[in-house]
Amino acid sequence: MTTNNQMGTCALCGKENIQLMQSHLIPKAVYKRIKTFKNSRFREMDDIQKIYQDGEKKPMLCHDCEEFFSKYERDFCNTFLDKYTADKLIPSTITQNINFYLLTVSWRILYDDLYVYDSFKERSERTAFERLEYKIRRYLNSTHSPQQQELIDQQLITNYANGEPQSFGEAIAFIENIQKLQLPEDISEIKNYIFSLCELGYTAPQIELLSHCVTGYSFSTTTKQHYCVITSYLGWIFLTVYQPKRYIQISLDTTPYDKSITDIVKEETNYIIQNIVQKSITVQKQLDETGLREKIKKRYSSQ
Ligand SMILES: [Zn+2]
Repeated sequence: MTTNNQMGTCALCGKENIQLMQSHLIPKAVYKRIKTFKNSRFREMDDIQKIYQDGEKKPMLCHDCEEFFSKYERDFCNTFLDKYTADKLIPSTITQNINFYLLTVSWRILYDDLYVYDSFKERSERTAFERLEYKIRRYLNSTHSPQQQELIDQQLITNYANGEPQSFGEAIAFIENIQKLQLPEDISEIKNYIFSLCELGYTAPQIELLSHCVTGYSFSTTTKQHYCVITSYLGWIFLTVYQPKRYIQISLDTTPYDKSITDIVKEETNYIIQNIVQKSITVQKQLDETGLREKIKKRYSSQ
Protein backbone atom coordinates (compact mmCIF):
# COMPACT_ATOMS: atom_id res chain seq x y z
CA MET A 1 0.00 0.00 0.00
CA THR A 2 1.47 3.32 -1.02
CA THR A 3 0.56 6.78 0.17
CA ASN A 4 1.99 8.50 -2.91
CA ASN A 5 -0.55 10.18 -5.11
CA GLN A 6 -0.43 9.53 -8.80
CA MET A 7 -1.58 11.26 -11.97
CA GLY A 8 -4.42 9.84 -14.02
CA THR A 9 -8.06 10.23 -15.04
CA CYS A 10 -10.61 10.83 -12.30
CA ALA A 11 -13.15 8.00 -12.29
CA LEU A 12 -16.06 10.34 -11.50
CA CYS A 13 -15.55 13.66 -13.30
CA GLY A 14 -13.37 12.23 -16.08
CA LYS A 15 -10.75 15.01 -15.82
CA GLU A 16 -7.49 13.80 -17.32
CA ASN A 17 -3.89 14.17 -16.13
CA ILE A 18 -5.04 15.11 -12.70
CA GLN A 19 -3.59 14.14 -9.34
CA LEU A 20 -5.54 11.20 -7.96
CA MET A 21 -6.12 10.83 -4.26
CA GLN A 22 -5.85 7.53 -2.43
CA SER A 23 -9.59 7.04 -2.23
CA HIS A 24 -11.36 4.72 0.15
CA LEU A 25 -13.89 2.39 -1.42
CA ILE A 26 -15.70 2.26 1.88
CA PRO A 27 -15.14 5.49 3.83
CA LYS A 28 -12.36 5.78 6.37
CA ALA A 29 -14.94 6.87 8.94
CA VAL A 30 -16.35 3.32 8.88
CA TYR A 31 -12.96 1.72 9.53
CA LYS A 32 -12.30 4.21 12.32
CA ARG A 33 -15.43 3.07 14.09
CA ILE A 34 -14.48 -0.56 13.70
CA LYS A 35 -11.04 0.04 15.16
CA THR A 36 -12.62 1.38 18.33
CA PHE A 37 -14.12 -2.07 18.90
CA LYS A 38 -12.32 -4.01 21.58
CA ASN A 39 -9.58 -6.23 20.18
CA SER A 40 -10.55 -5.65 16.61
CA ARG A 41 -8.34 -4.72 13.78
CA PHE A 42 -9.31 -4.98 10.19
CA ARG A 43 -7.27 -7.41 8.21
CA GLU A 44 -7.43 -8.19 4.57
CA MET A 45 -8.72 -11.70 4.96
CA ASP A 46 -6.79 -13.18 2.04
CA ASP A 47 -3.41 -11.93 3.09
CA ILE A 48 -2.58 -11.99 6.75
CA GLN A 49 0.68 -10.09 6.30
CA LYS A 50 -1.14 -7.11 4.86
CA ILE A 51 -2.38 -4.99 7.71
CA TYR A 52 -4.82 -2.34 6.68
CA GLN A 53 -4.62 0.54 9.08
CA ASP A 54 -7.73 2.24 7.83
CA GLY A 55 -9.15 0.30 4.96
CA GLU A 56 -8.60 -0.34 1.30
CA LYS A 57 -7.37 2.67 -0.67
CA LYS A 58 -6.98 3.14 -4.42
CA PRO A 59 -6.00 6.01 -6.71
CA MET A 60 -9.44 6.75 -8.10
CA LEU A 61 -10.74 10.29 -7.59
CA CYS A 62 -9.39 13.82 -7.92
CA HIS A 63 -9.26 16.09 -4.89
CA ASP A 64 -12.50 17.87 -5.83
CA CYS A 65 -14.52 14.69 -6.21
CA GLU A 66 -13.02 13.23 -3.04
CA GLU A 67 -14.08 16.34 -1.11
CA PHE A 68 -17.54 16.17 -2.64
CA PHE A 69 -18.00 12.60 -1.40
CA SER A 70 -16.63 13.33 2.07
CA LYS A 71 -19.41 15.86 2.68
CA TYR A 72 -21.95 13.02 2.37
CA GLU A 73 -19.82 10.70 4.47
CA ARG A 74 -19.79 13.15 7.37
CA ASP A 75 -23.51 13.59 7.10
CA PHE A 76 -24.04 9.81 7.08
CA CYS A 77 -21.91 9.38 10.20
CA ASN A 78 -23.74 12.15 12.06
CA THR A 79 -27.29 11.33 11.07
CA PHE A 80 -27.09 7.55 10.86
CA LEU A 81 -23.99 5.65 11.93
CA ASP A 82 -23.49 7.44 15.25
CA LYS A 83 -27.19 7.77 15.89
CA TYR A 84 -28.49 4.27 15.36
CA THR A 85 -26.96 1.02 16.49
CA ALA A 86 -27.71 -2.10 14.55
CA ASP A 87 -29.57 -3.75 17.43
CA LYS A 88 -32.34 -1.19 17.26
CA LEU A 89 -35.01 -0.34 14.76
CA ILE A 90 -34.02 1.24 11.50
CA PRO A 91 -35.41 4.68 10.66
CA SER A 92 -38.34 4.06 8.33
CA THR A 93 -37.25 6.57 5.72
CA ILE A 94 -33.85 6.93 4.13
CA THR A 95 -33.09 10.65 3.81
CA GLN A 96 -31.98 12.07 0.49
CA ASN A 97 -28.43 12.60 1.77
CA ILE A 98 -28.14 9.05 3.08
CA ASN A 99 -29.49 7.75 -0.20
CA PHE A 100 -26.87 9.77 -2.03
CA TYR A 101 -24.11 8.52 0.29
CA LEU A 102 -25.14 4.89 -0.30
CA LEU A 103 -24.96 5.47 -4.05
CA THR A 104 -21.44 6.93 -3.76
CA VAL A 105 -20.22 3.80 -1.92
CA SER A 106 -21.98 1.33 -4.23
CA TRP A 107 -20.63 3.17 -7.24
CA ARG A 108 -17.03 3.02 -5.94
CA ILE A 109 -17.32 -0.72 -5.29
CA LEU A 110 -18.94 -1.42 -8.65
CA TYR A 111 -16.40 0.70 -10.52
CA ASP A 112 -13.59 -1.20 -8.79
CA ASP A 113 -15.22 -4.57 -9.55
CA LEU A 114 -15.70 -3.72 -13.23
CA TYR A 115 -12.67 -1.68 -14.18
CA VAL A 116 -9.96 -2.73 -11.70
CA TYR A 117 -10.83 -6.40 -11.07
CA ASP A 118 -12.46 -6.86 -14.47
CA SER A 119 -15.28 -8.90 -12.92
CA PHE A 120 -18.08 -10.54 -14.94
CA LYS A 121 -15.72 -10.77 -17.91
CA GLU A 122 -17.43 -12.35 -20.92
CA ARG A 123 -20.56 -12.91 -18.88
CA SER A 124 -23.98 -11.70 -19.94
CA GLU A 125 -24.54 -9.63 -16.79
CA ARG A 126 -21.51 -7.44 -17.45
CA THR A 127 -23.54 -5.16 -19.76
CA ALA A 128 -26.18 -4.53 -17.09
CA PHE A 129 -23.50 -3.80 -14.49
CA GLU A 130 -21.75 -1.40 -16.86
CA ARG A 131 -25.08 0.35 -17.43
CA LEU A 132 -25.65 0.56 -13.68
CA GLU A 133 -22.18 2.00 -13.12
CA TYR A 134 -22.72 4.57 -15.86
CA LYS A 135 -26.15 5.57 -14.54
CA ILE A 136 -24.92 6.14 -10.99
CA ARG A 137 -21.78 7.94 -12.19
CA ARG A 138 -23.73 10.31 -14.44
CA TYR A 139 -26.24 10.98 -11.65
CA LEU A 140 -23.53 11.68 -9.04
CA ASN A 141 -21.41 13.78 -11.34
CA SER A 142 -24.38 15.86 -12.54
CA THR A 143 -25.03 16.76 -8.90
CA HIS A 144 -21.36 17.45 -8.22
CA SER A 145 -20.43 19.30 -11.38
CA PRO A 146 -23.22 19.80 -13.95
CA GLN A 147 -20.91 21.67 -16.34
CA GLN A 148 -18.33 18.91 -16.35
CA GLN A 149 -21.05 16.32 -16.99
CA GLU A 150 -22.37 18.41 -19.86
CA LEU A 151 -18.92 18.32 -21.45
CA ILE A 152 -18.83 14.51 -21.09
CA ASP A 153 -22.34 14.21 -22.60
CA GLN A 154 -21.37 16.49 -25.47
CA GLN A 155 -18.33 14.36 -26.18
CA LEU A 156 -20.51 11.23 -26.24
CA ILE A 157 -22.95 12.85 -28.67
CA THR A 158 -20.03 13.71 -30.95
CA ASN A 159 -18.79 10.11 -30.74
CA TYR A 160 -22.24 8.77 -31.58
CA ALA A 161 -22.60 11.20 -34.46
CA ASN A 162 -19.24 10.19 -35.91
CA GLY A 163 -20.01 6.50 -35.82
CA GLU A 164 -22.29 5.53 -38.70
CA PRO A 165 -25.23 3.42 -37.61
CA GLN A 166 -25.06 0.08 -39.43
CA SER A 167 -28.61 -1.11 -39.10
CA PHE A 168 -32.09 0.15 -38.35
CA GLY A 169 -31.75 -1.05 -34.74
CA GLU A 170 -28.53 0.85 -34.31
CA ALA A 171 -30.08 3.98 -35.78
CA ILE A 172 -32.94 3.78 -33.24
CA ALA A 173 -30.44 3.21 -30.41
CA PHE A 174 -28.45 6.21 -31.65
CA ILE A 175 -31.50 8.52 -31.48
CA GLU A 176 -32.50 7.14 -28.09
CA ASN A 177 -29.02 7.64 -26.68
CA ILE A 178 -28.89 11.24 -27.85
CA GLN A 179 -32.32 11.93 -26.41
CA LYS A 180 -31.28 10.43 -23.07
CA LEU A 181 -28.20 12.63 -22.96
CA GLN A 182 -30.42 15.74 -23.08
CA LEU A 183 -32.18 14.64 -19.88
CA PRO A 184 -31.09 14.22 -16.26
CA GLU A 185 -30.14 10.62 -15.46
CA ASP A 186 -33.20 8.53 -14.62
CA ILE A 187 -32.33 6.43 -11.57
CA SER A 188 -35.89 5.29 -10.81
CA GLU A 189 -34.85 1.65 -11.41
CA ILE A 190 -32.11 1.91 -8.76
CA LYS A 191 -33.04 1.62 -5.10
CA ASN A 192 -31.17 1.53 -1.80
CA TYR A 193 -32.10 -0.63 1.17
CA ILE A 194 -30.79 -0.77 4.74
CA PHE A 195 -31.09 -3.84 6.95
CA SER A 196 -29.78 -4.56 10.42
CA LEU A 197 -28.50 -8.08 11.05
CA CYS A 198 -30.65 -8.16 14.14
CA GLU A 199 -33.79 -7.41 12.16
CA LEU A 200 -32.85 -10.16 9.69
CA GLY A 201 -32.85 -12.65 12.56
CA TYR A 202 -29.14 -13.40 12.90
CA THR A 203 -27.79 -14.66 16.21
CA ALA A 204 -25.57 -12.60 18.51
CA PRO A 205 -22.35 -14.52 17.60
CA GLN A 206 -23.11 -14.13 13.87
CA ILE A 207 -23.72 -10.40 14.33
CA GLU A 208 -20.50 -10.09 16.32
CA LEU A 209 -18.57 -11.89 13.57
CA LEU A 210 -19.94 -9.73 10.76
CA SER A 211 -19.73 -6.43 12.64
CA HIS A 212 -15.95 -6.65 12.65
CA CYS A 213 -15.61 -7.18 8.93
CA VAL A 214 -15.99 -4.73 6.10
CA THR A 215 -17.34 -6.33 2.94
CA GLY A 216 -18.47 -4.91 -0.37
CA TYR A 217 -19.02 -6.45 -3.81
CA SER A 218 -21.48 -6.69 -6.69
CA PHE A 219 -23.61 -9.67 -7.74
CA SER A 220 -26.69 -10.53 -9.75
CA THR A 221 -29.53 -12.87 -8.88
CA THR A 222 -29.80 -16.13 -10.81
CA THR A 223 -32.89 -14.94 -12.69
CA LYS A 224 -30.88 -11.86 -13.83
CA GLN A 225 -33.59 -9.52 -12.67
CA HIS A 226 -31.62 -7.83 -9.92
CA TYR A 227 -28.17 -6.34 -10.21
CA CYS A 228 -26.93 -5.53 -6.75
CA VAL A 229 -24.08 -3.99 -4.79
CA ILE A 230 -23.90 -5.11 -1.19
CA THR A 231 -21.86 -3.64 1.65
CA SER A 232 -21.70 -4.82 5.21
CA TYR A 233 -20.17 -3.31 8.34
CA LEU A 234 -20.95 -2.62 11.98
CA GLY A 235 -23.98 -4.88 11.97
CA TRP A 236 -25.60 -3.26 8.95
CA ILE A 237 -26.24 -4.49 5.44
CA PHE A 238 -26.63 -1.89 2.69
CA LEU A 239 -27.96 -2.92 -0.66
CA THR A 240 -28.22 -1.03 -3.93
CA VAL A 241 -30.53 -2.82 -6.36
CA TYR A 242 -30.90 -2.15 -10.07
CA GLN A 243 -33.94 -3.76 -11.61
CA PRO A 244 -34.08 -2.80 -15.28
CA LYS A 245 -37.68 -3.17 -16.43
CA ARG A 246 -36.82 -3.20 -20.07
CA TYR A 247 -34.51 -6.18 -19.82
CA ILE A 248 -36.66 -8.54 -17.77
CA GLN A 249 -36.30 -11.97 -19.29
CA ILE A 250 -39.29 -14.14 -19.91
CA SER A 251 -38.57 -17.40 -18.23
CA LEU A 252 -40.29 -20.75 -18.62
CA ASP A 253 -38.95 -21.67 -15.25
CA THR A 254 -41.59 -22.61 -12.70
CA THR A 255 -39.70 -21.14 -9.74
CA PRO A 256 -41.29 -18.00 -8.24
CA TYR A 257 -40.85 -15.13 -10.66
CA ASP A 258 -39.72 -12.46 -8.29
CA LYS A 259 -37.51 -12.95 -5.29
CA SER A 260 -38.08 -10.53 -2.43
CA ILE A 261 -35.32 -8.10 -1.52
CA THR A 262 -35.22 -9.60 2.00
CA ASP A 263 -34.66 -13.07 0.53
CA ILE A 264 -31.85 -11.73 -1.64
CA VAL A 265 -30.16 -9.99 1.26
CA LYS A 266 -30.45 -13.04 3.54
CA GLU A 267 -29.02 -15.37 0.92
CA GLU A 268 -26.08 -13.05 0.40
CA THR A 269 -25.50 -12.49 4.12
CA ASN A 270 -25.38 -16.25 4.65
CA TYR A 271 -22.80 -16.44 1.90
CA ILE A 272 -20.69 -13.69 3.53
CA ILE A 273 -20.84 -15.41 6.94
CA GLN A 274 -19.85 -18.73 5.39
CA ASN A 275 -16.89 -17.05 3.69
CA ILE A 276 -15.70 -15.28 6.81
CA VAL A 277 -15.87 -18.50 8.84
CA GLN A 278 -13.92 -20.42 6.20
CA LYS A 279 -11.30 -17.72 5.85
CA SER A 280 -10.93 -17.18 9.57
CA ILE A 281 -9.92 -20.82 9.96
CA THR A 282 -7.05 -20.18 7.53
CA VAL A 283 -6.24 -16.88 9.18
CA GLN A 284 -6.05 -18.45 12.66
CA LYS A 285 -3.64 -21.02 11.29
CA GLN A 286 -1.50 -18.35 9.64
CA LEU A 287 -1.50 -16.24 12.80
CA ASP A 288 0.20 -19.07 14.65
CA GLU A 289 2.50 -20.11 11.83
CA THR A 290 3.85 -16.61 11.22
CA GLY A 291 4.07 -15.62 14.89
CA LEU A 292 1.75 -12.69 14.22
CA ARG A 293 -0.61 -13.67 17.02
CA GLU A 294 2.10 -12.95 19.59
CA LYS A 295 2.96 -9.62 17.93
CA ILE A 296 -0.67 -8.50 17.97
CA LYS A 297 -1.06 -9.53 21.60
CA LYS A 298 1.95 -7.45 22.53
CA ARG A 299 0.64 -4.50 20.56
CA TYR A 300 -2.69 -4.53 22.34
CA SER A 301 -1.23 -5.06 25.77
CA SER A 302 0.99 -2.00 25.30
CA GLN A 303 -1.94 0.24 24.33
ZN1 LIG B 1 -12.87 14.27 -10.23
